Amino acid sequence: VTAEKNIPLVRPDNLFVADPLADAYWGHVVAPEHYAELRPRLHRMGEGAARAWQLAELADRNPPVLETHDDRGDRIDRVLYDQAHDRLEELSYGAGIVALKYDPDFMSRHGEHGHLAGFALGYYFAQTEMGVYCPVCMTDGVARILARHADGAIAKETVERLATTDPDRLWQGAMFLTERQGGSDVGANIVEARQEGDRWFLSGHKWFCSNVDADAVLVLARMPGGTDGTRGLGMFLLLRERPEGNAKHIVIERIKDKLGTRSIPTGEITLEDAEAHLVAGEGEGFRLMTEMLNLSRLYNAVASVAIMRRAVLEALAHGAEREAFKERLWDLPLWRTTMADLVAEQVGSFVSVFEVVRSLDRADAGEEEAKKLVRIMTPLAKGITGTQAIWCASEAMEAIGGNAYIESSPMPRLLRDAQVLPIWEGTTNILALDVMRSVRKERTHEALFARIDAAIEGGRTIAPDLAATVERRSKELARGLESAMAKDIGEGQREIKAWLEPAWRVLELSLLLENAKSPGLRHPFVAACRRLLARPLSTGRAGACVAPHLTPTEDTLLHAAYAG
Ligand SMILES: Cc1cc2nc3c(=O)[nH]c(=O)nc-3n(C[C@H](O)[C@H](O)[C@H](O)COP(=O)(O)OP(=O)(O)OC[C@H]3O[C@@H](n4cnc5c(N)ncnc54)[C@H](O)[C@@H]3O)c2cc1C
Repeated sequence: VTAEKNIPLVRPDNLFVADPLADAYWGHVVAPEHYAELRPRLHRMGEGAARAWQLAELADRNPPVLETHDDRGDRIDRVLYDQAHDRLEELSYGAGIVALKYDPDFMSRHGEHGHLAGFALGYYFAQTEMGVYCPVCMTDGVARILARHADGAIAKETVERLATTDPDRLWQGAMFLTERQGGSDVGANIVEARQEGDRWFLSGHKWFCSNVDADAVLVLARMPGGTDGTRGLGMFLLLRERPEGNAKHIVIERIKDKLGTRSIPTGEITLEDAEAHLVAGEGEGFRLMTEMLNLSRLYNAVASVAIMRRAVLEALAHGAEREAFKERLWDLPLWRTTMADLVAEQVGSFVSVFEVVRSLDRADAGEEEAKKLVRIMTPLAKGITGTQAIWCASEAMEAIGGNAYIESSPMPRLLRDAQVLPIWEGTTNILALDVMRSVRKERTHEALFARIDAAIEGGRTIAPDLAATVERRSKELARGLESAMAKDIGEGQREIKAWLEPAWRVLELSLLLENAKSPGLRHPFVAACRRLLARPLSTGRAGACVAPHLTPTEDTLLHAAYAG
């Protein structure tokens, strides 16, 4: 940086190398023999994703366009993509974000970390490109539902095509639920299923269809003569080209002009007697869809911590070189304290989101307690981190200043892309209601509190004072939940929404303590824990907390988060 220009050009070479803390975390939670194989994959993805920055920018600036008719005026409804988009697909699917989990060879060796491997790769990819990460998510979701719940040759072939790293064989997935009458209220859906012998046909309009030209789509439709509400919905597998020409019965009305995630087409479609395969009928269709939704919610949470990480990285790299008032930004107390809060929030959410991922691995292996944990932690994670990502991208933009507001900086795209995270896959209100349902019906809070207690115990010797405070907070949290559950339905809903954030906070604090047992994580995790204890709400202004005792945490956190 020359003195007159004083504008650092931030272009990380490798997002994995730039983040020694994440490396130390994976090394702590993954057994050494497994990490020896996973680490080079993450390193490669870190490099690929860092280099793909310009591709992401191009794909965003040249969003997909719909070509509705051919030269003769016949409908073709084809989506045209920028080449940059195709290269991003090769990077993500090619690295095995989806494929590894379905690869018998990989799973025979690393089965206990199947989700961790996929989501860790996705964590680096999504730091560069959140748009394409959405179809990746849905491709995984469709494959998961079919692999676990469908039989027959079509399902088998579809899973194999969805879970390939070969771009020429790859099929992508999507999920079409939302209709004009409403997205949260899925039970209001009216798209119809019609049966003819053993064949099924779907008709009606779907209003939000991301990855609109996907090859394999799970669609909710009302069963013939079916009951009202979600019970009457069946789940169908809609293949664009099976039977041949089926795409003609899927009319893409338009592609929506969106605020963010512009690299992927979110469209509106009309199904005109499109042939589909029944996956689950009345009473079961919606239940299976919630399983797909929950996986998507976890993807959403991973994308959120990825955006936060990229925002923090950009700001720290800028502040390490930018000077103001004859000092580096890094050395200005108020700038440091702002950034230390951002780092602490990112690190806290990172360990908590990956705790959900690790629990999903255990749940898939059949652990009952882990199933309950996943059930409550997934909506909790999605409900908090989406909003945090917007907050973090916005604060980091401000911490960089005016240059971050300009489109040549990655920050505007990060902020725009982040805005969808609290909306799709269930808004925060809907997730609050989901947490409440899981507590009422399945007593999932017992598993959550047992996990928090165990984590506090695990970290007690590292920082007994912190452990005691977190324990107190956890007890308050339990009382808060009891109070919400005792209220009438309306009041209880209000209280449960307010409960989400303190619950996430206590989870973060306990997990930071537990993982601080690892020497490589100890100082930054204890420092993050101290800061988060002083910040009651995760989206309160960064650096606005007057707490002189926190000053020593700043150096630790900033250096842990930026090695440059
Ligand atoms: C970019 C993008 C891509 C999308 N892609 C897809 C896709 O691929 N497939 C798909 O099926 N859908 C998709 N969606 C739709 C998305 O899932 C819905 O927008 C979302 O579920 C919210 O539904 P809605 O927009 O109909 O809002 P509504 O359901 O009308 O909700 C409006 C507001 O009311 C609140 N609300 C609703 N019910 C309650 C309640 N009981 N208590 C308290 N508050 C309530 C909500 O929290 C929300 O704030 C996409 C949306 C976007 C923006």
